[in-house]
Amino acid sequence: MDIQNLIRPTIKALKPYSSARDEFKGKKEDMIFLDANENPYENGVNRYPDPQQWELKKVISKLKGIPTDNILLGNGSDEVLDLIIRMFCEPNRDNIIILPPTYGMYEVLANVNAIETIAIQLSESFQPKTDQILNTSNSNSKILFLCTPNNPTGNSFSIDEVEKLLNQFKGIVVIDEAYIDFSEQESWSKQLHKFPNLVVTQTLSKAYGMAGIRLGICYASEDIISVLNKIKPPYNINELTQQKAIEQLNKPNLVAEQIETLLSERKSITESLKTLDFVVEVYPSDANFVLIKVDDANKRYNQLMEKGIIIRNRTNQPLCENCLRLTIGTSEENQQLISILKSL
Ligand SMILES: *Cc1c(COP(=O)(O)O)cnc(C)c1O
Repeated sequence: MDIQNLIRPTIKALKPYSSARDEFKGKKEDMIFLDANENPYENGVNRYPDPQQWELKKVISKLKGIPTDNILLGNGSDEVLDLIIRMFCEPNRDNIIILPPTYGMYEVLANVNAIETIAIQLSESFQPKTDQILNTSNSNSKILFLCTPNNPTGNSFSIDEVEKLLNQFKGIVVIDEAYIDFSEQESWSKQLHKFPNLVVTQTLSKAYGMAGIRLGICYASEDIISVLNKIKPPYNINELTQQKAIEQLNKPNLVAEQIETLLSERKSITESLKTLDFVVEVYPSDANFVLIKVDDANKRYNQLMEKGIIIRNRTNQPLCENCLRLTIGTSEENQQLISILKSL
């Protein structure tokens, strides 16, 4: 597959904005910077941030075992996903393929960009219907979004089916791994060398505990990353975000401990939920939430809200009738949730 043929001609021809910090990358200490119209008085954020976030990328690269040239950072994965759509999909002509029930942003971003969305529901066991996906896609289907572990179902997709899609789908396959740190499966980012059409996204918003700083990560071939770099806003990751991310990522043990605790909480919540008589099903989860089917989702959602517990009602999503999504909280929060559920 030649990725070049999938890129929009407008984007291929684009000459990117060249920022002051792109044009001159000297050593900071002994230089006088009069090139970017910044306020010269130091306050920690008076200078523009590094447009390529080299220091942060080096930390991520070391942590994840992926070269910096295969990494692009975004203002949350939502920005990364938007950039990927704008790189490959021509407005009012191309389409993306999504597999509901799944993360809502793929379709929203497609709509914002005037891109058609083709939805092919997951199977009853929440797995991709590979043959149907391959048969339904057409020459304008530029991107297939696979969310694994999937939100809101919580399960991971079969490795064989994902591999078949990577081999046979004639466009870009974006694997959204927002929840990969809660899963036993290995990240698909380890397979970049095998699949030129593979793009993997991750985020610091979930396991890493930094939803507030907005940092999304994209792993792809150098060919794809270099084009995404061309179209991203020059200073898309602000200075405070870069600093805070470096600080937190240098404490990997803390995150590992939190993940371990959340996984053990997930296990005990799952067991407790199974004992409740209005809970019809507790779906297995590879993420930091569980999806449950109850007798009446709207009723249970409102009852919990009245008791001050906010969860996500997913009953209107395909295959999710009467389903609720519960995020795993602290041990105390989870105990309160369970005791309130038992009292209903
Ligand atoms: C939460 C979530 C994200 C994270 O998006 P950010 O913009 O990085 O916060 C991405 N994908 C899925 C499936 C999610 O559930």
